[in-house]
Amino acid sequence: MALKITVIGTGYLGATHAAAMAELGFEVLGLDIDPDKIALLQRGEVPMYEPGLEDLLRRHVAGIEGSSGRLRFTTSWEEVGAFGDVHFVCVNTPQKHGEYACDMSYVDAAFEALAPQLHGPALVVGKSTVPVGSAARLAERLAKLAPAGEQVELAWNPEFLREGFAVDDTLHPDRIVVGVASERAEELLREVYATPIAEGSPFVVADFPTAELVKTAANSFLATKISFINAMAEVCEAAGGDVVKLAEAIGHDERIGRKFLRAGIGFGGGCLPKDIRAFMARAGELGADQALTFLREVDSINMRRRGHMVELAREAVGGSFLGKVVTVLGATFKPDSDDVRDSPALNVAGQIHLQGGQVTVYDPKGMDNARRLFPTLNYAPTALEAVRGAHVVLHLTEWREFRELDPARLADVAAEPRILDGRNALDAELWRKAGWTYRALGRPNA
Ligand code: NAD
Repeated sequence: MALKITVIGTGYLGATHAAAMAELGFEVLGLDIDPDKIALLQRGEVPMYEPGLEDLLRRHVAGIEGSSGRLRFTTSWEEVGAFGDVHFVCVNTPQKHGEYACDMSYVDAAFEALAPQLHGPALVVGKSTVPVGSAARLAERLAKLAPAGEQVELAWNPEFLREGFAVDDTLHPDRIVVGVASERAEELLREVYATPIAEGSPFVVADFPTAELVKTAANSFLATKISFINAMAEVCEAAGGDVVKLAEAIGHDERIGRKFLRAGIGFGGGCLPKDIRAFMARAGELGADQALTFLREVDSINMRRRGHMVELAREAVGGSFLGKVVTVLGATFKPDSDDVRDSPALNVAGQIHLQGGQVTVYDPKGMDNARRLFPTLNYAPTALEAVRGAHVVLHLTEWREFRELDPARLADVAAEPRILDGRNALDAELWRKAGWTYRALGRPNA
């Protein structure tokens, strides 16, 4: 009989995972402690913007006409415990307030609620990004709390999906990594992922600590690559070089590669910043802090980018933001998402507002989330409206919509046709031809 799967925590990761599991043919029950989120999902609506997710969800949510009916949602732990053979834990692991370490309270709460409901054989699979050592600790808690005792096992299966590509990444992962303590756990996970494995996704079996470390190591590498090119942008600016040309040239070396080498205002979001900080904090606890001191530099290069962008904007409007209208194009931390967690774009917008600028923000999908976080900024319904009266325009999230804007039309409504490209993603020639003063990070002024 096909495995029954539950997904605990139905945010960016969990909602996508639940829908993908239903697509792979399993009966799925999703649980969240947020009843509003569950009510939305039950109606086949997605609580965030993620391309393709609503279609996938509606193909499977029970009660929707024409759906497979394989996907349901609940807030009942009892129901989840009785239903599932495999329970995926996908709850959030944010940074602790006031320190670098990971806040494990949501994961701990999920385990404490789930374990007492496990009366028969079950595999609990952690997917959240956690500090190394968590799986071993949680396995002990499970053994203690689950009425079925040894029939309940733990595995760790870190997730590598990218927001904006979450559906595709979940259905066709570039690798599946599992940390297991028994052959039975490995076999069950091979069954869960039989379809992507058959399609060729590599299946990497490891112990608990290695599986946990794979995720934080991968994110640390990516963060390092971004901060590396941003450090090169700083040097290029000092030396009069062009970081875009430099990235293209070094990227031809296959050992370096071209991806993740776009200089700009740096990384943000709900993962990279908090993951590298939690990794440093955990390494400190383990007595291996020296190994990761370079991540402190990666973090500080990244955070410097935001301040640098603010300085360039201030310079562009003549040295003070007072009385100046600043347009910010982009609010999300990356395109094709509505996620504004630790968004560099909003951070820059907020800093300029605090320094007296009149900031107007436009984003294709992130407006509601941005408004909730920064209610004092102005928000415009379109890019054109946002640019009206601007003394400087900042391009801070690389949405396709912004690359397709007509610079000539925008020049007509701006007070001063001046743009700073914080993502090195616009066509400089096109903007300059339309009468704009175009400046980008790490590139010479034309
Ligand atoms: P999120 O905040 O969007 O979703 C977490 C969900 O868990 C929320 O809906 C919340 O209500 C729910 N929740 C909290 N406590 C709960 C509990 N005790 N029981 C049941 N539900 C609970 O977070 P996310 O972005 O989906 O991230 C989840 C985890 O996945 C994190 O560890 C993150 O680092 C990791 N991750 C995220 C991504 C990504 O792109 N978002 C990618 C890979 C890994």
